[in-house]
Amino acid sequence: MSKRRLMMLGPPGAGKGTQAKRIATEKSIPHISTGDMLREARRKGTEMGKEAARYMDAGQLVPDEVVIGIVRDRLDEDDASQGFILDGFPRTRAQAEALQQMGIELDAVLNIVVSDEAVIGRLGGRISCPSCGAVYHEMFNPPATPDVCDACGYQGLIKRDDDQPAAIKKRLEGYHAQTAPLIAFYQEIGALVAIDGEQSPEEVHDAIAEVIG
Ligand SMILES: [Zn+2]
Repeated sequence: MSKRRLMMLGPPGAGKGTQAKRIATEKSIPHISTGDMLREARRKGTEMGKEAARYMDAGQLVPDEVVIGIVRDRLDEDDASQGFILDGFPRTRAQAEALQQMGIELDAVLNIVVSDEAVIGRLGGRISCPSCGAVYHEMFNPPATPDVCDACGYQGLIKRDDDQPAAIKKRLEGYHAQTAPLIAFYQEIGALVAIDGEQSPEEVHDAIAEVIG
């Protein structure tokens, strides 16, 4: 049986977003990224966005109740009825339990495994468009014209606060502390699948496609 209620797990910089978007397109299921939803709320200046911004600016994770609220609303929408791919949620065991209490079971939790050293190398070079949120890499994926966003033409790409080296190390520490119990949780219920995240993006995609069918 093919698996359509999916979740991506992995450290920042593992390529979860890119992989999730491609799978979402191929399988006609929505890609539900809490990071994108939070940044959108922040850009719009909503109450939730302002609250989330305080934590994000400090390199901390946004509290469960804020994240759970927006994910619940999103999963209630029609396009998520046949499946979805969660990206960035659940991030803690408490969030995973909240998801279960909503009656939402996951068919597969795709754990993209990447070493800390590789994460720091990847994220240290990340630059973003402050206008549309597109992400580039100084070495691996530069924009066609330096400093100009390919997607929207905005000039003045930035290194986001959360892509600075000190913030990356803090995020990795937070990631390991919070997700170790999460990994154990999904391992216990048999949903966890490890994917080698240090292969090429194409190989990572093929490994995921084989798992979900
Ligand atoms: Zn842009």
